[in-house]
Amino acid sequence: MTYKELADLIFPNVKDIKYYEEKYPERNLPEGAIVTRFAPSPTGFVHIGGLYQSLVAKTVANKTKGVFFLRVEDTDQKREVENGITDIVNSLKTFDMAPDEGMISDTEEIGNYGPYKQSLRKDIYQSYAKYMIEMGKAYPCFCTPEEGEELRKKQEAAKVRTGYYGVWAKCRNYSIDEMVEKIKNGEEYVIRFKSPGREDRKIKHKDVIKGNVDFPENDQDIVIIKSDGLPTYHFAHAVDDHLMRTTHVIRSDEWLSSVPLHLQLFQELGFKAPKYAHISPIMKNDNGNKRKLSKRKDPEAAVSYYEEMGVPALAVKEYLLNIANSSFENWRRQNKDAKIEDFDFSLNKMSVSGALFDMVKLLDVSKIVISKFSAEEVYKKALKWAETHDEELTKMLENKEYSLKILNIERGNSKPRKDIAKWSDVKDNIIYMYDDKFLNANIEYPYQIINNKEDINKILNLYIEKYYNEEDDKQTWFEKIKELAGQMGYAKEVKEFKQNPEMYKAHVGDVSTVLRIALTGRTNTPDMYEIMQVLGKDSIIKRFQKARKIL
Ligand code: GLU
Repeated sequence: MTYKELADLIFPNVKDIKYYEEKYPERNLPEGAIVTRFAPSPTGFVHIGGLYQSLVAKTVANKTKGVFFLRVEDTDQKREVENGITDIVNSLKTFDMAPDEGMISDTEEIGNYGPYKQSLRKDIYQSYAKYMIEMGKAYPCFCTPEEGEELRKKQEAAKVRTGYYGVWAKCRNYSIDEMVEKIKNGEEYVIRFKSPGREDRKIKHKDVIKGNVDFPENDQDIVIIKSDGLPTYHFAHAVDDHLMRTTHVIRSDEWLSSVPLHLQLFQELGFKAPKYAHISPIMKNDNGNKRKLSKRKDPEAAVSYYEEMGVPALAVKEYLLNIANSSFENWRRQNKDAKIEDFDFSLNKMSVSGALFDMVKLLDVSKIVISKFSAEEVYKKALKWAETHDEELTKMLENKEYSLKILNIERGNSKPRKDIAKWSDVKDNIIYMYDDKFLNANIEYPYQIINNKEDINKILNLYIEKYYNEEDDKQTWFEKIKELAGQMGYAKEVKEFKQNPEMYKAHVGDVSTVLRIALTGRTNTPDMYEIMQVLGKDSIIKRFQKARKIL
């Protein structure tokens, strides 16, 4: 009996690998183009680390005129959940990171290198497994799970490495005839790789992110095809990334220790190995301890969290680039209005030890990102978010013209307002501008330096009767507040007050504060002149009346 006959017995009906080699030719791309992928398992939770990986992968692919594709790794069917693929596809879409190729919905895909869903590639893996058997580089293993368990115990007792390797790899020593006989007798089996490696020899690997790493060679005869006919991750990775012509495998560093095995698989299959870039996990500072962002403990670990909070996709991406390359921050300082795509991202400048994730910083970045949006953009995005998350805000935004006026306050200038970090902040930020809300609300007016009833009453009365004029420009408007301050015995200039504090009870700023609080119930608001312009005289009068009533 020959290996060829053994292979035919095991996989009688699969195509020759030549068929696939021709079907999926080398890609015709410009020199230096990076082909890379996001290859998640559809387990129902899209982790921010996955988005981070995709962003890195997509960025380098786009920059080099390469390809970024989405492959779904669903060969472990026990772990699969309903909507798993849809969740992944939608997350990428939400972040404007749809792949160039691969799955675009639960069932549809685009691109010439598919199928991009591993469970649909069974025949392909089997062709390559057959090829390995034909070459004597893979063999059927008949060990039962109980035998596997026994082997492990023996190895532990003998204090040697556990696993299926060398002298412990019982089935690798059967003759072809013995293998054939067992198969014909109906014994169950898996297919194992016959590793040519030796543990006492070292291999050198140059990782794009981690740099030079030395490993002992792989000597484990790992399973490549399971008893259900589907491949293991390792084998599928080699076959897929070869046939999909991946140039760079960008993945989580939990796979770094598998590199010796993967390089060996590529070598034995006769494939050119891709470059590897292993990304360290995103870390979090937890009371002084650095630990991985955890699906269980940290809500911000879920990609869905950002959508729920209304953090714009662009802000999340901008922040992730910030932690991916430390030079981003400097670049941003010098290129305030540039698109993130223009940043010269570099894979090998990524942190070896794991970027630190900081929600406060992310929200700060988000404030800046939102400050650059036009009122119209803020309006659209906030409304879209509100429609699924906040009925009251949706109603408030129904009056588009008025809402736009509010959102336009201190926007579109050189120092735009930075008080919105996420769409869920918008309601609190603008609610006081709506008369139906403000006039009916229970307001506690937080008066400051000027806090006596008499003075407040007088300021509000005098202001509306004598000084306020809707037609005034900003300078005249402020001059009038100064005059009002002077008329009431307050310093008209802050400087003057500071020089002669004993002469005055307070100054013009304190008078403004009274007006601001009476108008809005708040000490902190955007520009009061603009607020008054938007509110209009009627509303101002009503607000002052309300304030006086509550004095
Ligand atoms: N399915 C693997 C995972 O989710 C993919 C690893 C890879 O990118 O190769 O961890």
